[in-house]
Amino acid sequence: MLKPLIFLVMTIVAFSSFADEYDKENFKILDLGEKATSYGWYVPYQINENTYAILAPKHWQETVSYLFVGTEKALLIDTGMGFGNIKDAVDAITNLPIIVANSHTHYDHVSNNYLFDTVYGRDHEFTKKNSSGHPKSTWQNALQPSAVSGPLPEGFSFEKYESKSFKITKYLKDSEKIDLGGREIEVIFTPGHTPDGMLFFDRAAGLLSTGDTFYPSTLWAHRSDADFKDYITSAKKMAEMENDVKYILPGHGEIVANPNFLGELYKAFEAMRDPNTPFEKQEARRRYEFDGFAALVKDPPE
Ligand SMILES: [Zn+2]
Repeated sequence: MLKPLIFLVMTIVAFSSFADEYDKENFKILDLGEKATSYGWYVPYQINENTYAILAPKHWQETVSYLFVGTEKALLIDTGMGFGNIKDAVDAITNLPIIVANSHTHYDHVSNNYLFDTVYGRDHEFTKKNSSGHPKSTWQNALQPSAVSGPLPEGFSFEKYESKSFKITKYLKDSEKIDLGGREIEVIFTPGHTPDGMLFFDRAAGLLSTGDTFYPSTLWAHRSDADFKDYITSAKKMAEMENDVKYILPGHGEIVANPNFLGELYKAFEAMRDPNTPFEKQEARRRYEFDGFAALVKDPPE
């Protein structure tokens, strides 16, 4: 009677420790005070001694921004939807000058860019169009009370909300390194989800920010601004990096994810090219389910 019980307990312990390694519950939440977190709208996590994730968990988008702190400068990757003031949170974490760079320029990643003086981005038509501001009409499903679970930041109103224009102060090149003082962050162009997608890689620490190119939920490769062929090329590049990554830092939902998703993402894109892979047909698009994530693509995908 005892043996099966011991086996059961050991199995539970083994499974929970496996699951826990990438669970945000394991990371410390910083106490920055009410105002700095836009009254709890943002939840700031510490990932390692000089890297932070700023999650907005009360909106279904659950956007995550990342702050990489060097000895001279800090890099803020993505600024979220702009419901709260993310600059207050960043300024409460570091006094260093801030460089903003975006994983891509969809509204839910750039809408606090206007608060910062230094913004790096792509020299690309798509980026230029988006830097002039996002029309509210494009994102109605995210800009209504039903999108939110919990109190909105003080002073926020859906009527007054706008995704403001911002100015790019420096164009980034593929493979360029951003020097933060004692810390280098590599820029890796990964079009697919959008034409201006890029990863930010702290190779020394094994931290890879993937934006919307990968997060462990439903990936969007079906919209008119997505390109399936580009996405496969980017996914292949990412699969080759798997062994150098300790944590994926995804753009939505989770603050870290298992690096083995990098290889799985490429396999998933290869599988979607195979006519025998099952999918769910949804009007003009297909939905494919994989282990730990899903993908929406056009019908046919390419
Ligand atoms: Zn996006």
